[in-house]
Amino acid sequence: MSQLDFDVVIIGAGVIGLAIGQRLAGRGQQILIIERADQFGGGASSRNTGCIHSGAYYPSKSLKAQLCLRGRELLYDHCSKYDVPYKKIGKVFLATAPKYIDGLIKIKNLAESNGLSPLLEIDGPDIHRFEPFLKCDAALLCPESGIVDSYALMLSLVVLGGNHGLTLATRSRVISGKPEKGFWRVYTIDESGKKTFVRARWVVNAAGIWATGISRSTFPLRTIPEAHPVKGSYLQLTGPSPVSRIIYPDLIPGKISERVDATPGIDGKLRFGPSVDAAASYEDYRVADNLKERLTPLIQRYLLNYNTLKLSPDYAGVRPKIKTPGNGAPDFIFDWADEGGWLDLWGMESPGLTSALAIAEHVEFLAGETGLI
Ligand SMILES: Cc1cc2nc3c(=O)[nH]c(=O)nc-3n(C[C@H](O)[C@H](O)[C@H](O)COP(=O)(O)OP(=O)(O)OC[C@H]3O[C@@H](n4cnc5c(N)ncnc54)[C@H](O)[C@@H]3O)c2cc1C
Repeated sequence: MSQLDFDVVIIGAGVIGLAIGQRLAGRGQQILIIERADQFGGGASSRNTGCIHSGAYYPSKSLKAQLCLRGRELLYDHCSKYDVPYKKIGKVFLATAPKYIDGLIKIKNLAESNGLSPLLEIDGPDIHRFEPFLKCDAALLCPESGIVDSYALMLSLVVLGGNHGLTLATRSRVISGKPEKGFWRVYTIDESGKKTFVRARWVVNAAGIWATGISRSTFPLRTIPEAHPVKGSYLQLTGPSPVSRIIYPDLIPGKISERVDATPGIDGKLRFGPSVDAAASYEDYRVADNLKERLTPLIQRYLLNYNTLKLSPDYAGVRPKIKTPGNGAPDFIFDWADEGGWLDLWGMESPGLTSALAIAEHVEFLAGETGLI
């Protein structure tokens, strides 16, 4: 057994663990991020849409709304300061049939109560002035949304954190933690099966969809939500994108409806998705053979000339959702273990990428409140 000492151990080098590490390292904390894979960011953080969400449609006063709005602001600043590729291209919410217009009204009201500038209302026949290849009954335009290169974002966090002494240990899986007097022992296992531990004053469990499992093996008696992995797969369009903005059809806030978004990526490619499918495992990244057939009727609802487009299967990601009793759409959860000094992050699903820098700020605040920093 070997022994190392850090102020903070962060479990998981996804965008959230890295953002927390970078922020706390900047405060002079000695940080170790432990990552089970051979490099950072291979989980949900590199298998998403790369959309910088506006925060328009999350429940008012929820952590998702607050951290998304703040995170978006921090993210745009970070990207322009550190040359992380991004584009503020805006998002169009569409109602492709009269029954979805209520959804637009809800989005507009929520956006206003969440503090966004009023979204622009567009009548169906006018949509061609904004997006010539779309059809709809009505639309809302939100200029605040954008897209970001999530890998470049994570790389910037690794480099900035590294400048402040952040250590990233890959190929090492955290098994559990054990409280000692004034510190935590964090047990890990490497690929050869060798077990070891590190000691840290406090621990942040930012292991995405795996986080609840680590919490459960550390705290067998604690109430811990169940992980609920939901796969999202994408189709990619060959050739130039027929739309210049992010397209969100038929969204009804708080409801899961059958819909397929279209997002022009930072690489210029248009992607349709993510789909909503049960994940066979936390790393079920297989794109179903019939994805194109399934998504086609949903895309045809809003895109003109669809039949001339060439689509192929792209990639998939697993949404790190959780199930909590009686709550179909749980908020982000930040939960300190009773033992103190161990902070669990559960349910860090979308808008986790947008919110990452604000989540880091929030963790810093929570640690300050408890006197850890
Ligand atoms: C399909 C899809 C689309 C999305 N689209 C968007 C979007 O457009 N905009 C947006 O804002 N958000 C989006 N999200 C959400 C966003 O991707 C996540 O909220 C965010 O990436 C979560 O980051 P994370 O660091 O918590 O998780 P992850 O990126 O999953 O990182 C967790 C890390 O922990 C590591 N780990 C796990 N177990 C252990 C262990 N025992 N020991 C050590 N390391 C461990 C994993 O290997 C992984 O690297 C999307 C998500 C999905 C799946």
